[in-house]
Formats: sequence, C-alpha cells, structure tokens
Amino acid sequence: MKRYDLIVVGGGPAGMFAAGFAAKNGARVLLLEKNRRCGAKLLITGKGRCNLTNSEPDVRKFAEKFGHNGRALLTALYAFTGGDLIRFFEKQGLKLKIERGGRVFPKQGGAEDVQKVLDRFITETGVELQCSSSVLDFCLEGDHILSVRTAKGELFAERFIVATGGLSYPETGSTGDGYRWATETGHTLVHPEPALVSIRLREKWTSEVMMINLKNVNLSVWQNGKKITERFGETFFTRDGIGGPIVLDMSAAIRDALKKGGVSLRLDMKPAVESATFAKRLERELKEQNNKDFRNVLGNFLPKDMIATFIGLSGINPNKKCHSVTREERGRLLGLFKSLELNVAGCEGFDKAIITSGGVALQDVDMRTMRSKRISNLFFAGEILDLDAPTGGFNLQLCWSTGYLAGINAVKKDDCTL
Ligand SMILES: Cc1cc2nc3c(=O)[nH]c(=O)nc-3n(C[C@H](O)[C@H](O)[C@H](O)COP(=O)(O)OP(=O)(O)OC[C@H]3O[C@@H](n4cnc5c(N)ncnc54)[C@H](O)[C@@H]3O)c2cc1C
Repeated sequence: MKRYDLIVVGGGPAGMFAAGFAAKNGARVLLLEKNRRCGAKLLITGKGRCNLTNSEPDVRKFAEKFGHNGRALLTALYAFTGGDLIRFFEKQGLKLKIERGGRVFPKQGGAEDVQKVLDRFITETGVELQCSSSVLDFCLEGDHILSVRTAKGELFAERFIVATGGLSYPETGSTGDGYRWATETGHTLVHPEPALVSIRLREKWTSEVMMINLKNVNLSVWQNGKKITERFGETFFTRDGIGGPIVLDMSAAIRDALKKGGVSLRLDMKPAVESATFAKRLERELKEQNNKDFRNVLGNFLPKDMIATFIGLSGINPNKKCHSVTREERGRLLGLFKSLELNVAGCEGFDKAIITSGGVALQDVDMRTMRSKRISNLFFAGEILDLDAPTGGFNLQLCWSTGYLAGINAVKKDDCTL
C-alpha cells in the first residue's frame, strides 16, 4: 500500500500551489482533481486574461480588501506576497503587466499561460497528479484523517489539504464538497452565498443593449430614498440586468439591502459634468442640429448601439426635428443621462457568481499555518475559507498565499498534535 506524506484535494490555484511547494520541500505529494485537468476555473478568470494578483505593495492595505476577516490573512499574505507571486511567474518565463487599479495580468496571452506555468511547476517539483479522481469522503480515526476514498479506491497519507474551492460556477468542479467534509468533521461553516454577481433588473430593455461597455460612469444604490453606496468605473448591461466591475463590487451591499426591501440603482453616464452644465450642452447640440431628425443627434453622447433604446426610453418621437424638442422632453433626456433609474429584481446565483462568500470559519483554522483546529492532520487553502474580496486580483492572491502556507506547513516535521 502506497502511503503519501501529503494528499491535496482540489487542483485549482490553491491546491496546485500547496502541492507544488510541499513537493519542493521534499515531500511525497499526491494531488487529486475531479476534472480531467486542473484549473478549470482559473482558465476563465479575467475573461480568459487572468487577473492573477494586485500590485498593492502594502500588505495591510491588501488584507483590508477582505473586510473584517482580512487581519487573519496577514501571515499568509506576508509569507507569500503579491510581489513574490509576480517574481514566481516571471522566473517561470511569464512576463506580467500592471493595469488600472493595480490589476496584474500576463503581458501576452492569458489564463492558459498561467495554467501552463502551474502544470509545469507541479511536474517539475515531482507532484503525483491524479485527474478524473473525485474524492468522495474522508476516513477518520478520532481527530485524525487516515485516508480519502475515491471511486478508484482508498488513498493514505500523513496529512491532507482541502482546496476544493467554493460553490460558484459549479460546472468548473467547485460543488462545495469541501464544505460538507468540513461540517462533518466538526468545523463551523459560515453560510456560503454567491458574491461578486451581476444584478437582475426589472427593466426588459437591457437585452437590446447588452455587453456595450460603459466606461467612466457612476452607479449608485438606493433604498427608501437613501443612497447606500456608489462606485465610479465600468459597467455593462446583460440580457437580464447589469454587470461589470462596479456592479460586482457593490453586489454584496445590494444583496444585503434586498433582505430589507426594494432596491434601485441610478446610473449617471456623465458623472464628470454637473447636471446644469450637461443640460446646456444638450440644448446647444439640439440647437446646432436644428433641422435634423432627433434620432440622428445623440451620437456625440452615447455609444451608437445604445441610441435607439435610449430614444425609446426618452419617449421622444425619433422623427421629430431637433428644433421642436420641448423643454420638458429635454428634461427627460437629462434625467436619463444623469440619473437613469433601474429597479433591482435580484442578484444572480452561484451559477454566475465570481466567488463564494462565507465558508470554513477562520476561528476553526490556525491562520498562521492553515491547519485545522479540529482535525490534527488537516489543512485548508483557497476559496473554501470564509474570505472574499472585491475584484482586482485579490481573490487569486488569497489562493496563492494560503496555498503556499498550507503546503509548506503540511510537510513540516512536527508531532502534528493540536
Ligand atoms: C468567471 C470568473 C472569473 C474570475 N476572475 C478572477 C480574476 O480575474 N482574478 C481573481 O483574483 N479571481 C478571479 N476569480 C475567482 C478565482 O477564480 C477563484 O477565487 C479561485 O479559482 C479559487 O481557487 P481555489 O483553488 O480555491 O478553488 P477552485 O479554483 O474552485 O478549484 C477547486 C478545485 O477542486 C476540485 N474539486 C472539487 N471537489 C473535488 C473533489 N471532491 N475531489 C477532487 N477534486 C475536487 C475542482 O474540480 C476544482 O478544480 C474568477 C472566478 C470566476 C468564476
């Protein structure tokens, strides 16, 4: 019977990093992945470009992105920083570049190239990889795991790392198996919820203008006449609603507000210009275009493919001559540009969520080593933990840092007692 020093369950970024660094430290490591290859989710990150970390140099500020739980992540973030990650990939020949908001991407290529580096890393460090190998459950003796059971049989090791991710995009393999094992072995689970999600709207016209990028806009969230939060940046309409970075980053606030009642959004497409100034601009434009049909004049203010929908929303006859657009109609137009009201129907679910919030409670994990406080030879890494951050590369850095820390600690020679 072959016995490993370490079995890592889950071949996502956290599991691959944990396995690779454990093997690099001389351990016999087996990585079990249920899909036919590792990194199914990594391959779709950043729309295939993979925003693999953030260039924020201050580790404390980095940790703050994870909210009140971020402090617990400090050891992992110091152990393997964003800078370490950049050096790791550049040493492997993948040049990186920094974009808006400190987002770090491969200079050329994308997620496929990131995955290739990880595949090479685990091969070169001597990790034994078994794909198409779904772990069904763990066999325990007291507070100690003896083995994992797969469809192909039982596999034994001294220590185990669970890096099975959360519940988002389940078709990539993240189906919450690790949550089940964690609760069965006495860990507290903070209720998992879909996070960084698009928002469904009651308005039906969004499908007409979907996927047109709206840059440098301001979107605010409202409930009972009060502004809850707002963001400046990029958004786009989807078939059923609205998505994009600023929507994803406000989705947690929207989800929380929905628990209390109705929520609406207001989109300001010209946030750099005061309403009064923009009203004058509109008036001037209509005057200059005097004899033209109204439908031909919004090109200076809107993406071409949005004009017809916008005119429909304004209720102004598209064939009307510009000179006969009334003051009241101009007011309606101004309202659409500066404060387009959108009514929230709900948040998208796990199938379209970028990440899962909630997960294995940090109080049950020694965050200095990633070892479970309930099971003496079990470690956790990655999204399975109760940690989540906004977009910007922070969530993947969580996986690299906790994967690294779990990997090196799981193969440290100590007595493995709590
Ligand atoms: C569309 C999309 C875009 C994203 N873009 C970005 C981005 O640009 N930047 C960023 O920072 N984050 C991004 N994320 C988030 C990021 O992908 C995740 O945070 C990250 O993949 C989590 O890594 P993980 O290793 O913890 O889990 P996962 O990547 O979910 O990997 C877990 C692995 O475990 C395997 N597994 C599960 N159960 C079992 C089992 N029973 N037996 C064996 N194997 C099992 C799964 O098949 C899977 O391969 C994005 C997410 C999505 C969905």
